[in-house]
Amino acid sequence: MGFPVSYYCPHCGSVVELERDGYLADKSVTPYPLEGWEYADPADDFEGADGVHFVCGESDASGVSWTDVESDADDVENPGLASPCGRDFYLSFVKYEDGREVEAVPESDYVVIGGQGPPSPRGPNAGPGGPGYF
Ligand SMILES: [Zn+2]
Repeated sequence: MGFPVSYYCPHCGSVVELERDGYLADKSVTPYPLEGWEYADPADDFEGADGVHFVCGESDASGVSWTDVESDADDVENPGLASPCGRDFYLSFVKYEDGREVEAVPESDYVVIGGQGPPSPRGPNAGPGGPGYF
């Protein structure tokens, strides 16, 4: 059996409780999907996925409960937003490949700063020097 863990929407701070297995390690909750992660709906068998895709206030599953609480954390993007806001956000689990933790590369980091060339392509091998690629 799982146990409830609380997360908050990075857009509006709306707090959701998700019941899940304890062996999964959380990496982050972000307003965008991480490159290379596969997300499942909370109603699906997300414990076999890399993370969970929520729609703020709308995702509905037996293990999901939206609370009336709004987080006042500093990294909530838009605390003034009506809550729940109905936007997408993503819970990512820690992922391992060949025994090493896979680092996520945020999309905004794909731009090469100070380089002469164009930004890196978004192909599967994008992300210079990222672990997990050879
Ligand atoms: Zn929200």
